[in-house]
Amino acid sequence: MHDFLIIGGGIAGVSAAARLSHLGSVLLVEAEDHLAHHASGRSAALFVKGYGAPPVVALNEASEDYLRHANGGVLSPRGVLIVAKAAEAAAFEAEAAEMRAERLSPAEARARVPVLNPDRLAFAAFTPDALDLDTDLLIQNFAREARRNGEIVTRARVTALRRAAGGWEAETAQGAYAGRLLVNAAGAWADGVARLAGAKPLGLTPLRRSMARIPAPGGHDLSAWPALFGAGDSWYAKPDAGALIVSPAEEDSMEPHDAWADDMVLAEGLARYEEMVTEPVTRLIASWAGLRTFAPDRVLAIGPDPVLPGFFWLAGQGGYGFQTSPAASRLAARLIGGSPPELAPATVAALSPARFA
Ligand SMILES: Cc1cc2nc3c(=O)[nH]c(=O)nc-3n(C[C@H](O)[C@H](O)[C@H](O)COP(=O)(O)OP(=O)(O)OC[C@H]3O[C@@H](n4cnc5c(N)ncnc54)[C@H](O)[C@@H]3O)c2cc1C
Repeated sequence: MHDFLIIGGGIAGVSAAARLSHLGSVLLVEAEDHLAHHASGRSAALFVKGYGAPPVVALNEASEDYLRHANGGVLSPRGVLIVAKAAEAAAFEAEAAEMRAERLSPAEARARVPVLNPDRLAFAAFTPDALDLDTDLLIQNFAREARRNGEIVTRARVTALRRAAGGWEAETAQGAYAGRLLVNAAGAWADGVARLAGAKPLGLTPLRRSMARIPAPGGHDLSAWPALFGAGDSWYAKPDAGALIVSPAEEDSMEPHDAWADDMVLAEGLARYEEMVTEPVTRLIASWAGLRTFAPDRVLAIGPDPVLPGFFWLAGQGGYGFQTSPAASRLAARLIGGSPPELAPATVAALSPARFA
């Protein structure tokens, strides 16, 4: 029997496996044939420190040092330029204030991103406080650490959970696996895993977000462009490996599934982006979607189940699963290992799944 049986091979499960491997033996089971198949393979790969409710921002802040420095670091400069039309003044002001972005004139904004449409662009603000996050490297780093005292088994969807002597037994397509403590890091499926174990679901909601990759607008070199945020969360775009990824920024509630982009939602989002630039979108290189799974208060759930012994939640990563992962996994390991969390007690309480009991 392993000490820790972790369900889910996304960033949540893999980061927890790394941390817990220092406390005991770890077994991580993942349904798909490789890690990060679902939300963790489909993100925008940004670190935006001020993003989210206060307990989420506390996790972002507590994660920054690890993301900058551990294993050589996974962050690199990007910045965000918030752009708005004249009719979007109120949303623009609110977002610029929230992100502490510095006001730029339309001409200054166009000096950074020459394809911005001078006939539409009324307001712009820039913050350097958003960084690119190498999500593949972060997962690989955590997986390598986990494998020193643990095993990762793929193609092993957990279909049943039973109490076994001193712990749990999970039935999977690869056979049965046992662990003393069960860690539920199943992303969009975390409430379903709770049901399998006999725990009360938290009311997690998977929200789909679509993404398109388009050729570099106007053939420009995008490497130094910031990410672009359309005011009012109406769309966003980011340079990505010589191309541009554009998202309609939708939040459509879904059942857990292998998500794909909705053509209509994508087309409408691309139209909102196109309105703000001089170069039309002539071709999509690729499109995809992922589920951002939120608890009712949009704060992560990290802690033991308030009722069911031996069942630990690491769920509700929403739109910030990567940027919170160093601190979220460290908190999980501290709570499990019985050492005092580094985060303030009020933050730990705000993250606890007991808040839904
Ligand atoms: C379009 C988009 C943009 C995003 N942008 C950012 C960003 O810029 N920055 C950021 O920090 N975050 C971002 N996110 C959010 C981030 O991607 C997620 O918060 C994070 O990936 C969630 O990780 P997870 O491990 O909880 O879930 P997942 O990656 O979905 O992993 C859960 C895993 O559990 C497995 N599983 C489920 N049920 C079972 C079972 N019964 N047995 C075995 N395995 C099971 C699944 O197969 C899955 O692999 C974005 C997300 C999307 C979709």
